[in-house]
Amino acid sequence: MKEMRQKTERINLGVLEKNEQYNDQMTDICEFIHKFVPGHSEEENCAQEPQKVLSGGDYLTYERHKQAKNCKSNCRTPSKQLKGLVPKIEEFHNQAEFLKLIWSLLYDTSSSNSIGTLYAARNKMNSRNVPSDPHDNFYASSEFMDKVTTAYIIAGGLHHFKMENLHSKPKPDYAGPVGDHDAMKEYIMEHAHQFVENHAVPHVQNLPDYGIQSNDIKCRYCDKEYRRPMSLRKHEARIHGHPDPQFNQQSGISPPVKTSYKSSVYDYTKLCLTLGLLRLNHNDAIRFGDGERLLRLAKFFCLYYKGGKCPKYAFALLETTAQAQCLLSERQAERFVWNRTVNHQGKIDTNHPNDLDLEHCNKVFKEDVHTYRGKYTEKTILRVSRSALATDGICKKFDNVSSVRQCSGKHKKTDMADDIQLLAEQLHSIGNVFDIDDSRVHDSFPNLKDPLASLNMEDIQTWISGSLKKFSSKHYV
Ligand SMILES: [Zn+2]
Repeated sequence: MKEMRQKTERINLGVLEKNEQYNDQMTDICEFIHKFVPGHSEEENCAQEPQKVLSGGDYLTYERHKQAKNCKSNCRTPSKQLKGLVPKIEEFHNQAEFLKLIWSLLYDTSSSNSIGTLYAARNKMNSRNVPSDPHDNFYASSEFMDKVTTAYIIAGGLHHFKMENLHSKPKPDYAGPVGDHDAMKEYIMEHAHQFVENHAVPHVQNLPDYGIQSNDIKCRYCDKEYRRPMSLRKHEARIHGHPDPQFNQQSGISPPVKTSYKSSVYDYTKLCLTLGLLRLNHNDAIRFGDGERLLRLAKFFCLYYKGGKCPKYAFALLETTAQAQCLLSERQAERFVWNRTVNHQGKIDTNHPNDLDLEHCNKVFKEDVHTYRGKYTEKTILRVSRSALATDGICKKFDNVSSVRQCSGKHKKTDMADDIQLLAEQLHSIGNVFDIDDSRVHDSFPNLKDPLASLNMEDIQTWISGSLKKFSSKHYV
């Protein structure tokens, strides 16, 4: 925390008239940044290795960045090969993508009458600025999801402690050690733990015990090496009798019979709560700049993206995990893990994602450059790119001193609390969303399943080992 509360120093390198969506222009961008890498050399035949510096972006930028490095991998010198840049995916775009995943699973405009669903909550709280695609208004969607998750936690608390409403007290059995602060804290944490175990931990199957268990395709009994995973499986099952459903089916065991599945109101509750809590945890880790926790969460996000049909982000997060665990050197990995946020206020919980900070800079720059009405030269761009943030800072300070009221668009805390209370009451007393009753269903979500529970672990195993193989052939080191 001592490190993460330090104020960030931001140095503006200027604005290029390039578009990172085109491969050739992305290469130009990378070459431009590489000049700032310590150890960069323009000389021909200079074998000096530059230091490695992180270079982050959203998913597309990340992909193009890797391509640019691949294109240059045959150049003569390490500097020309862009060896000093380590591409990295940033957290703000990850936040946005996860919100989108939540929407794709739980948001349906035909569910306005089903109490407990996101769309019903939107109507109850009259949050008309919440769009069908969360990317259309990220902040409104994000604040809305904060409220819904909090309301779900409160309703869950009422259910857990068997309370009638927000104003009643817990039954004597649940009162806890009132008065003793430390004991009370422990008591609450214990119940919180129980609550999460009961309602928010999805059932995930283990990776299968057959097939590839590590990066070398080697028999675990006799160390014989294979080229293809399937031959290894066959060998292990046939020669050593290793249990594998495809090669030694024991008679009598038939595949599980598919029963018609119908998801209940409680299934929705569980998924909504699980995703909501994961999201809160992620946001909290970002606020504290807790890189280690962000990397731990990346593993969950990776599987959710995989199961929730966002293959690109699933792949990117798998690669992120691999970067931290094995692709980068220990020193690089430490930097990679702990350089995900900036902190402008110098408090322990005022970090925000690197890419969000950049979006902010872009906005300020664009506002300033618009005053030129399209008539600008390279010179003006350079000037504005250097002055825009400073001017913006001066204007803000001036507004502050002369008490010009700013409409920040944010709701007051009291509004939030009112909305949350309203929703929590409804979820608890009318919706009974925590009651396990299979006969009650949300009509718009007949087949809702936690994406983690429906993952095919054999496919995941093949995907992970295949991807690791791909990563290992790339130019990170
Ligand atoms: Zn063997």
